[in-house]
Amino acid sequence: MNTEYGEVEQIDVAVIGAGPAGAVAAALLARAGRSVLVLERQHFPRFSIGESLLPQSMAYLEEAGMLKAVVEAGFQYKNGASFVHGEKTSSFDFRDKHSEGWGTTYQVERAVFDQLLIRRAADQGVQVRFGHTVRAMQTGAAPVLEVADEQGRVYRVASRFVFDASGFGRVLPRLLGLETPSRMPTRAALFSHVRDALPAGSTDRDKICVAVHPERRDVWYWMIPLAGGRTSVGCVADAEFLDVPEDQREAKLRELMRAEPTVARLLGDAPFLMPVNRIAGYSANVERLHGPGYALLGNAGEFLDPVFSSGVTIALRSAHLAVQTLLKQFDGETVDWAAEYDAPLRKGIDTFRVFVERWYTGELQDIIFYENQTPKIRRMISSILAGYAWDETNPYVADPVRRFNALHEVCTTM
Ligand SMILES: Cc1cc2nc3c(=O)[nH]c(=O)nc-3n(C[C@H](O)[C@H](O)[C@H](O)COP(=O)(O)OP(=O)(O)OC[C@H]3O[C@@H](n4cnc5c(N)ncnc54)[C@H](O)[C@@H]3O)c2cc1C
Repeated sequence: MNTEYGEVEQIDVAVIGAGPAGAVAAALLARAGRSVLVLERQHFPRFSIGESLLPQSMAYLEEAGMLKAVVEAGFQYKNGASFVHGEKTSSFDFRDKHSEGWGTTYQVERAVFDQLLIRRAADQGVQVRFGHTVRAMQTGAAPVLEVADEQGRVYRVASRFVFDASGFGRVLPRLLGLETPSRMPTRAALFSHVRDALPAGSTDRDKICVAVHPERRDVWYWMIPLAGGRTSVGCVADAEFLDVPEDQREAKLRELMRAEPTVARLLGDAPFLMPVNRIAGYSANVERLHGPGYALLGNAGEFLDPVFSSGVTIALRSAHLAVQTLLKQFDGETVDWAAEYDAPLRKGIDTFRVFVERWYTGELQDIIFYENQTPKIRRMISSILAGYAWDETNPYVADPVRRFNALHEVCTTM
């Protein structure tokens, strides 16, 4: 095949997608001296959802040489999460937690954040091509990607390994038939940004606020203050509840915002700064996170649910683990991707899964709003909410189901 780029390009690692998972994985590989090509179908900056980071993610940004740039970018500082249900409130300060490590992070406009990360990757030697879409792959010990650019040229990239970090694009799960049904029901979100003009002290801008709908415990709102007087606001419910025609989305979100007292008080009349978006059916899973010559990172693998803002943290953790595993393989060691990548990554996802599933049944809300929680247990819960879902010194990570059930019983019978 004749292309502008020659017959077949040769690279150590090809990465599909320049979101957080792709950018961090690419930077880590470049720092280890490997040649990396990132293929991204869009042009940055581009809007993306997923604006509230968790402190655990800071360690991976640091490892990838991106922390200073993130700290200096002027994003909204974040130190915790507050929960509201009618009169009940509960606030977690992530600096007060069981696990070692970062207790603060940021709330970011993803257009700016994602561009910053991929630029930092490029600064460290990663080749990045925007407007280049991966549309086929030949798997094997020397995988080959077929790529199309916006001028209609098609070319091939041969590599020693491919990371699929294509997010909701889910390139390899679709091409290779790896999708399996998610255990999560089909939910949707309606969301936008508003000009918040909040009086000083009226709310804690340093925390994400999660509010429960007054009548339905399985319906919830996020309020994520961003820098510059903007707040990201969204409502999540089963897909049917939010199934409105496009021209009625704004009215529906406004009606929902006015139905919850805290959201109504803070943002009830705040002007929308962008059209109200709807995203549905985002939970996804795959039978395995690896195969001959490839691994799936971030949302291209398993995605649970937005409620605990775990998506970017899982994406960065996946980048960290996948690169560690691949570098061992490149060094000639025998690597078991199932044991060294898939299982350890899923361990943390499974911790979040217990929390997510029990959020929607209302059981986690019983725990979060329980007033007599011991400080020690609150610190363990705080750790998981801060993203330390892989720290097995935390009993709620080591044995989440049993511990959770026991704690729920205490919170509902005492
Ligand atoms: C309603 C909602 C709210 C959320 N809120 C949060 C939150 O507050 N905090 C949080 O941490 N997470 C949140 N998430 C999750 C978060 O959005 C994702 O987990 C995160 O963006 C995943 O990052 P990624 O790098 O895996 O993929 P992405 O950020 O999606 O990046 C994938 C990239 O791949 C590119 N791509 C796709 N197909 C191709 C192709 N064929 N060729 C080349 N490039 C391709 C895309 O253009 C994209 O730029 C939320 C999710 C939802 C649905």
